[in-house]
Amino acid sequence: MSSRLINLIVVHCAATPNGRRTTVEDVNSWHYQRGFRRSPAFRARQNHSLDAIGYHFLVYINGAIATGRHLDEIGAHAAGFNQKSVGVCMAGTDSFTLAQWDALRGNVQLLMDRYPQARVVGHRDLPKVAKSCPGFNVADWLRGDMAPLAGHVLEASRP
Ligand SMILES: [Zn+2]
Repeated sequence: MSSRLINLIVVHCAATPNGRRTTVEDVNSWHYQRGFRRSPAFRARQNHSLDAIGYHFLVYINGAIATGRHLDEIGAHAAGFNQKSVGVCMAGTDSFTLAQWDALRGNVQLLMDRYPQARVVGHRDLPKVAKSCPGFNVADWLRGDMAPLAGHVLEASRP
């Protein structure tokens, strides 16, 4: 099976309260309610119990990375851009733990190594997107070498 062509890595937020634990099971049930469905073939390949989730990764507030859809599976996270993109979601809305920022950097760097031709953008940077997702400026974050972005760090997570 050949791998999917990827030209975009899209960063999202879950629009959950900042600092609240959110799991792939939570997101899966919200996406199920919105009518998203995964194919039986890809469920058999990865995360069979997740029948709906639209993202490929969810970054937990403790810095764990949970997988959702298979990388070769078309996601459901960016209307008009799902075919050739990967979706990475941060738990929270616009403020994230230091562990999350570290995990996001590691995850996006791995994806950039795997898909060197891909651009990294925030959901809100795509055309015709009215929401503020992912709650921060991804271009600023990239320019800052993917360090935690000032004004978007949960104070409670500082040592
Ligand atoms: Zn989004």
